[in-house]
Amino acid sequence: MRGVVWLRRDLRLQDQPALAAACADCDEVTPLFVFDDPLLRSRQFGSSCVTFMVSCLVELADTLAQRGLSLQWRRGNQIEEVLSFVEDVKADVIYWNRDYEPASIQRDRKVQQALMARGVVVRTFKDHVVFEAEEIRGSTGDPLQRYSAYRARWWTKWHAAPPPLLPSPAGLQKQRTGTSSPGITLPTVEDLGYQTIPLSIKPGEKEALRRLRWFLDGPIHHYVEGRNLPAIDGTSKLSPQFRFGTLSVRTAVHAALGTLATGSPVSRRDVLTWIDELIWREFFQQILSAFPHVASGPFKSKDGLPRPRPAGAEWNRLYAAWCEGQTGYPLVDAGMRQLNQTGWMHNRVRMVVASFLIKDLRIEWQSGERYFMQQLIDADLAANNGNWQWASATGTDSMPGYRIFNPLLQSRKFDPEGVYIRQYVPELAAVPTDRIHAPQLMTLNEQALAGCRIGKDYPLPIVDHRQAREEYLALGKQLVTR
Ligand SMILES: Cc1cc2nc3c(=O)[nH]c(=O)nc-3n(C[C@H](O)[C@H](O)[C@H](O)COP(=O)(O)OP(=O)(O)OC[C@H]3O[C@@H](n4cnc5c(N)ncnc54)[C@H](O)[C@@H]3O)c2cc1C
Repeated sequence: MRGVVWLRRDLRLQDQPALAAACADCDEVTPLFVFDDPLLRSRQFGSSCVTFMVSCLVELADTLAQRGLSLQWRRGNQIEEVLSFVEDVKADVIYWNRDYEPASIQRDRKVQQALMARGVVVRTFKDHVVFEAEEIRGSTGDPLQRYSAYRARWWTKWHAAPPPLLPSPAGLQKQRTGTSSPGITLPTVEDLGYQTIPLSIKPGEKEALRRLRWFLDGPIHHYVEGRNLPAIDGTSKLSPQFRFGTLSVRTAVHAALGTLATGSPVSRRDVLTWIDELIWREFFQQILSAFPHVASGPFKSKDGLPRPRPAGAEWNRLYAAWCEGQTGYPLVDAGMRQLNQTGWMHNRVRMVVASFLIKDLRIEWQSGERYFMQQLIDADLAANNGNWQWASATGTDSMPGYRIFNPLLQSRKFDPEGVYIRQYVPELAAVPTDRIHAPQLMTLNEQALAGCRIGKDYPLPIVDHRQAREEYLALGKQLVTR
């Protein structure tokens, strides 16, 4: 039997359900990746995300080749390309791992219907999450909208039947030979219309597994505290690997729980808190899958929330300052510059910059969501949308609308010495620590000593946080009491 494995966001060999099933069923297996031209042209993603994806594919092509499988690629409209490829190689069966984004669900449905009409067997698998939306429901059978309830159900299901890990390809019984086409050359990032970016997070399955081991051997044991400190390497930085499936989330959960069983002096609370983050990831995946309207608007009505600032010159000025990291709030600026320079931003700072955009600048969250998608190396519709809706109080289980992060207090608390700020806002490098969080308070003499003139080398705050906060709350109150 001839099988095609359509790879999408599962660019790995280990614990890869579609690939494992194809290798078990078929005499000949051809892995296929399709570069989605309309999506690439839409510019929803940026160069760092595309560079990461291409690098993962290069590594995957290599590791597949070592096992006798030749990665094939096509470029164009995904549906048309998959259908014609299956016909070209005369496949009897196609395998893929399911994707939960609304557009992907529609695409997959169309491919499935067309192939089944041609007599091709379609086998799809759960992979991107531990539990799919349908597997975790409330007592009424509805999707759970509160994270705490979702999390409780998730653990109950895990303890009832922890999902097994699939054997790695090395453990598979037979070597498979795919379509014979030696030494394929994948398109470059530039061929795809993007620019190769030096990656701040190394791509690929090998690196994902290495980083997971490194994280589980050290930082995870201080995660509760470490995850809030942007100046240290205290989190896993596995988000782009989960995004492109170079690491299976089941592998990560099993490995993290495994550290509890080794007898080493690990902190149970730290490990479980890290797994909680993976459950947040799944929570947002199931929200997107159960409520696809969130992809194009708020989950719930915006009643009681202040209307965003209207478009115009002031909007343009404030939004540009936020994007460029020129707001005059050092923590916000460090975060935005980290994003622009590396394609990644620390989660604590993501929360601060999101709150700042929505509440201090009163710019609609969708603009922030779009900008993040275009810059992030881990750009993921479900996680990004879920977190922006959380920050804007329009999501299923959100931060309350009246809670507004104080960028100054966040900065003092989570980057007390200003190490992170100095790294990404070099013009503040010589500012004394007692002024680093609010450099506009420096005297002229202090500015001269620090080599940083406020208003010239570094901007004055573009808004006054206290005033912006009061305005936001007052506008919200007017709507509620009207
Ligand atoms: C405004 C905003 C936008 C975001 N956009 C994205 C995005 O596009 N893609 C993305 O993967 N994450 C996004 N996040 C979530 C989070 O910031 C990143 O997942 C995390 O910073 C990645 O770093 P890490 O791998 O070191 O995480 P760790 O702290 O090591 O966490 C482990 C994993 O859990 C998941 N995770 C952690 N925090 C969250 C969270 N809040 N929501 C969902 N999953 C989480 C990630 O897959 C992460 O790799 C966003 C958060 C905010 C506040």
